Amino acid sequence: MSDSLHLKCVRESRSALIYPPGMSLGNLTGSWRDMKPVLDKEKCNKCGLCWIYCPDMTISRQNDYEIDYQYCKGCGICAEECPTEAISMVREDSD
Ligand code: SF4
Ligand code: SF4
Repeated sequence: MSDSLHLKCVRESRSALIYPPGMSLGNLTGSWRDMKPVLDKEKCNKCGLCWIYCPDMTISRQNDYEIDYQYCKGCGICAEECPTEAISMVREDSD
């Protein structure tokens, strides 16, 4: 898909796309997030799908897979896509 066609699709869609990827890096997630992903490293097979699918690019894989909660929006896509169920969505106040 060309960039202009991609932009056209984004503009015409009513979904919650973040385009370009990482554009919200200047915006910290506020206190409005009610669910957050928790990664169980014992179950993680390092496939990289969460890193690929996170729309906000908040998962890093430099040393190990880590979620940056400063930017994570709590959408749950990473948990949905994880093939080993290594990511669970939990309530913010469940610590
Ligand atoms: S999708 Fe799941 S198994 Fe794959 S790297 Fe992410 S946490 Fe690990
Ligand atoms: S919950 Fe959404 S924003 Fe947060 S790490 Fe997972 S995919 Fe990214």
